[in-house]
Amino acid sequence: MSFNVIFFGPPAAGKGTQAKIIEEKYGLKQLSTGDMLRAQVAEGTELGKQAKVIMDAGKLVSDEIVIGMIADSMERVKDNRRIKGFIFDGFPRTNAQAQSLDMMLKGRGQKIDMVLELQVDDTALLARIEKRAKEEGRSDDTVAAMKTRLDQYREYSAIVLPYYQIQGNVYAIDGMRPIDEVTMQIEAILGEDIAA
Ligand code: ADP
Repeated sequence: MSFNVIFFGPPAAGKGTQAKIIEEKYGLKQLSTGDMLRAQVAEGTELGKQAKVIMDAGKLVSDEIVIGMIADSMERVKDNRRIKGFIFDGFPRTNAQAQSLDMMLKGRGQKIDMVLELQVDDTALLARIEKRAKEEGRSDDTVAAMKTRLDQYREYSAIVLPYYQIQGNVYAIDGMRPIDEVTMQIEAILGEDIAA
């Protein structure tokens, strides 16, 4: 039995925060394309150098790159029996990524079992980014980059949701609540499908 879930939502909605809380408890592994790209930047790889320019501008890195990173990560842990499935965090962000993900899972006899949509309004997102900019100093947490990230989300990513909605497995989460209350909402939904 496997279980794969997507944490979906705009930049700074809290996907990564929640994925890190949830993953161990449910035996799932978080796969964050944002974290993977930042690791490449930190290591100073060629890919990292190219990605940094795009990320700092708030644009999307190419489908080919992120799909490749996800495929590699899934392959690396394929024999690890402790991992019951994946939490996809920040992926898929385009229709092409969603279709590739379906194909990759299909090849393993798996599918996306659930999409959790973290809903947060734009004003709150901007406030979070300003706070995170002070705390973490991420180079894409500027007002200008954030505006572009929100535009890219609307143009390329939000339209991925209907692709999953027609499959009937999208659940809305009120991402405006405090972190622990958001976790409780997620657990209430996950709890019905996978035993913790
Ligand atoms: P946030 O959720 O705050 O937007 P992420 O860490 O998910 O932050 O992503 C940071 C940046 O990394 C994005 O703005 C984008 O440039 C790049 N990125 C991450 N995931 C993807 C993806 N699936 N497709 C394209 N670009 C991505």
